[in-house]
Amino acid sequence: MNTTRHEANLDSALIAALESLRSTDHLLVALDFDGTLAPFVNDPAEARALPASAAALERLAALPSVTTALVSGRSLASLREVASPGPRTLMIGSHGAEQWLGPNSQPLILDAGQQALLAAVTAALQKVAARHPGSVVEVKTAGVVLHTRGATPEVGRSALQEGRIAATEAEASVGGPLYVQDGKEVLDTTVVRADKGEGLEVLRAHTGATAVFFAGDDRTDEDGFAALGPGDIGLKVGEGETLAGFRIPSPEELPAVLELLQRVRSEQSEPGQPGSEA
Ligand SMILES: [Mg+2]
Repeated sequence: MNTTRHEANLDSALIAALESLRSTDHLLVALDFDGTLAPFVNDPAEARALPASAAALERLAALPSVTTALVSGRSLASLREVASPGPRTLMIGSHGAEQWLGPNSQPLILDAGQQALLAAVTAALQKVAARHPGSVVEVKTAGVVLHTRGATPEVGRSALQEGRIAATEAEASVGGPLYVQDGKEVLDTTVVRADKGEGLEVLRAHTGATAVFFAGDDRTDEDGFAALGPGDIGLKVGEGETLAGFRIPSPEELPAVLELLQRVRSEQSEPGQPGSEA
């Protein structure tokens, strides 16, 4: 087997784990987007997957007995906009509250109470953002997010603190429940209870996957890592405590991981190889 220049930088235990996915019947490759496929940028609308990762994902998507999926906190609409995945790649948005599992997928519909709560929290967080230069509000299908990546650290901390209070007050005035999660320089609120672990379980059941590879960088991805079992592989991107078994330093190392997975699974689908379905 040829070893690419990129791959030479991967940890040998990670390489061995990825190679162990050769023999599983059906592999689900599920990836977070921001901070995993795409390096962070100040404006969430400008985020794009690294070209090498996007290309490797498409090659994986084309393989038999592999399903690819994006699992993001973004709304499905926003995820589709920035990631523009090929038609084979499934999508979980809003941390699991929104699902695109093919052309017949039903959109998420909020009830009147959820709509009122979403409007109130949006207005509250927009006021907070207006007082904190560099912070922006992202309105999603089922929630609203305060991003502080563009603010100075001091202003960002203050924005998140005030945002949390404002969201709680909005919930108290309109009626909840509102679900609030802290991420990296974000305050993520949603009116629909969901997490990435549930999203992965939906994908696992839908695809009949016999093993799951999941990569993510943020605290909300820990719910995904917690949902993994024996034979699955969790890959944490970047620093921070994690339940994942493996880690790479940044999104820049992900192409090598995906390329190795693609090669391992290509060999699997060739007749006469171990694990072949022939
Ligand atoms: Mg992320």
